[in-house]
Amino acid sequence: MSLVEQMDTVTDAAAGTVDRHATTQTFESTNPASGAVVGVFPVHDTGAVTETVERARPAAARWAELGFDGRRERLAAYRGYLARRMNELADLVHRENGKPHADAILEITLAVEHLAWAGSHARKALGSRRVRTGLLAANHAAYLEYQPLGVVGVIGPWNYPVFTPMGSIAYALAAGNAVVFKPSEHTPAVGAWLAAAWRAAVPDCADAFQVVTGFGETGAALCRAGVGKLAFTGSAPTGRKVMAACAETLTPVLMELGGKDAMIVDDDADVVAAADAAVWGAMSNAGQTCIGIERVYATSAVYDRFVAEVTAQVRKLRPGSDDEATYGPMTMASQGDIVRRHVSDAAASGRVVRGEADPALFPNENYLAPAVLLDVPDSSPAICEETFGPTLSITRVRDAEEALERANATSYGLAGSVFTRSKARGLDLARRMRSGMTSVNSVLTFASVPALPFGGVGESGFGRIHGEDGLKEFTRAKAITRQKYALPVNLMSFGRPASATDAVARVMGMIHGRHR
Ligand code: NDP
Repeated sequence: MSLVEQMDTVTDAAAGTVDRHATTQTFESTNPASGAVVGVFPVHDTGAVTETVERARPAAARWAELGFDGRRERLAAYRGYLARRMNELADLVHRENGKPHADAILEITLAVEHLAWAGSHARKALGSRRVRTGLLAANHAAYLEYQPLGVVGVIGPWNYPVFTPMGSIAYALAAGNAVVFKPSEHTPAVGAWLAAAWRAAVPDCADAFQVVTGFGETGAALCRAGVGKLAFTGSAPTGRKVMAACAETLTPVLMELGGKDAMIVDDDADVVAAADAAVWGAMSNAGQTCIGIERVYATSAVYDRFVAEVTAQVRKLRPGSDDEATYGPMTMASQGDIVRRHVSDAAASGRVVRGEADPALFPNENYLAPAVLLDVPDSSPAICEETFGPTLSITRVRDAEEALERANATSYGLAGSVFTRSKARGLDLARRMRSGMTSVNSVLTFASVPALPFGGVGESGFGRIHGEDGLKEFTRAKAITRQKYALPVNLMSFGRPASATDAVARVMGMIHGRHR
């Protein structure tokens, strides 16, 4: 497809969504591999964002009225549309984000799976149910249900421009909300494509999912636009700004932030499998993965073998934008500077093994050689700060307990991995790892299990997407009681006799008083 045709695709994708607003300012998104313009998008100002959210409100009401079955059908139509056009979307992701086409396919596959799960499990997770009333309200029926919040604002990053926002969008829609999505300024074409696909697949509720584009100010305007919740995925510093803006209107927030995820390689681990997983977890997507492995703690018993295996594998990696490249460029040029700083600091204090591909042959400076950082000090930025590049630090530790202690010694707490052949040890270490998600004998697997919640602790944020928790995240719990029949004595009435509370006290003494 020629660039002109590609541009047309993007313009078509945006038609009827972002282009409807009158706006004077525009910005370009560019291909990080070539610098070519991928698309031109409006900078939506506060007025345009407010207008979009206001248009979403009646759509939210209609969408909620469809009920679980109506929404499931339409979410199925949407995922069918995405699945049929997977190659077209993957091509756009490749051009705008830079990742290999095959990785884009994998990312879209995950998003489609989550859409399927969210649509088909919403009723079970959120539908009205009777709950036991207990003694004090024995003459009542009690109902619990999870109601939608109205319009949910979603702000997303550029590194997984389909999968990451869809973790909020799919679950918010399945829960009965409309969504206004602000994609990263680096991937607006993908965001616009997703919204245009929705309009095409779900024409009778087209405004239930809309996109606004622009920079940080557009995101800030969405925070202040009176949405029922703001689901943010991005860095911790921006997350703080989003929380501050949302605090003005007491808008609740979901924070999916960065990480510094660790892998523990225990004495009895399958070292070859652990190395393979570590290299993929660290280097795929050029390391621009929030749940990517950035640190490995390997016990003395396996350290040498593990390092040899990792470095052998890393030497074969080659960044590029051709079909054989193992990973693409840094999507955001400025991130490359951070990665280079972390690697050069590590080189000054430890040892660095780089891939064998000649950087002089890389298409431009956005492509970074993979780097394995050996035994760098704990104070090094490569250990303390999120690197978000194709690097992996490996540190020798005495045993798995020391590994766990050092893995947990970070302000982040997103995810992690443990390699051991012992099921009991693996689960024990996973439970004690200070993170929202841990995979044993693999990396990142939890993200592909739609029933499992996704989210972090500490600087990695709070709240959950995916799974039942992810559906509930976009609802408010509603409690209802219905009196079935009146009791002769009503304790919550000024007309109750004094003897009634004495009787209650005696009964409570009999039931609960025996517990010491
Ligand atoms: P940023 O925090 O820079 O940006 C995230 C989003 O926030 C972008 O859409 C950005 O818009 C927008 N934004 C910027 N300023 C404001 C503001 N003042 N108010 C509202 N919105 C604003 O993150 P990146 O896009 O660089 O993404 C990388 C980060 O995301 C990493 O830290 C990574 O770990 C994290 N991440 C976390 C995930 C998780 O699930 N926990 C998943 C994926 C990534 P614009 O781009 O236009 O500036």
